[in-house]
Amino acid sequence: MLKVNGIDVFYGNIQALHGVSLEINQGEIVTLIGANGAGKSTLLKAISGLLKPKQGDIVYEGTSISGRAAQAIVKEGISHVPEGRRVFANMTVEENLELGAFLRKDKDGIRQDFAKVYELFPRLLERKKQLSGTLSGGEQQMLAMGRALMARPKLLLLDEPSMGLAPLLVKTIFRIIEEINQAGTTVLLVEQNANMALSIADRAYVIETGRVVLSGTAEELNASDQIKMAYLGGH
Ligand code: ATP
Repeated sequence: MLKVNGIDVFYGNIQALHGVSLEINQGEIVTLIGANGAGKSTLLKAISGLLKPKQGDIVYEGTSISGRAAQAIVKEGISHVPEGRRVFANMTVEENLELGAFLRKDKDGIRQDFAKVYELFPRLLERKKQLSGTLSGGEQQMLAMGRALMARPKLLLLDEPSMGLAPLLVKTIFRIIEEINQAGTTVLLVEQNANMALSIADRAYVIETGRVVLSGTAEELNASDQIKMAYLGGH
């Protein structure tokens, strides 16, 4: 479904990604694991068109999308939930969700997706008229995910959805990611919480200082001593 072929990404003169390649098959949950600053967010931004690779190529469903505008990439079916949630604080929950569908014209489909999002996140239904800035951190995360789903993506990019959330809520968010996946959406998940991420992922890539250093099935990485020591708390 998605192939990233040897991309280099820079911030000015600073190179953040060095020849990164990865592949995502339809229906999978793939997770990116790596320390702070390893380049995980940069990779998601390159896929969603927020950053342009200097070298290499990103191919989605057989067509190169590198260099395309972010909006065009959303239209092709890739939605990005950025780190730190970024909901529009002065708009209601419902208005934020509407924005997620702004490129669509299929009114019936949009209505169905509102119902689906409210079913996945009953909290958002309860609070649909509330200003988003007044939601808790966990509710804002749900809203950011709901808004991305309103674009009816085929591929959902999630950047640290568990960040700053209480453990119980982290479990809820991960359960919902699995539900979204089972309903047919492919997921690329960036997580600091490698244990949780590997527990729901099919495959994983490990990124260190802008390079993919290891990849495999979630089972393989869970069993790797190297991964245990570096990312799973050493046990
Ligand atoms: P985190 O979990 O902290 O977001 P990450 O793995 O997602 O970590 P990135 O945010 O992709 O890492 O950052 C990769 C590298 O690029 C880091 O060295 C970071 O300092 C650098 N970087 C990120 N954003 C910028 C920017 N806007 N300008 C300059 N350098 C940046």
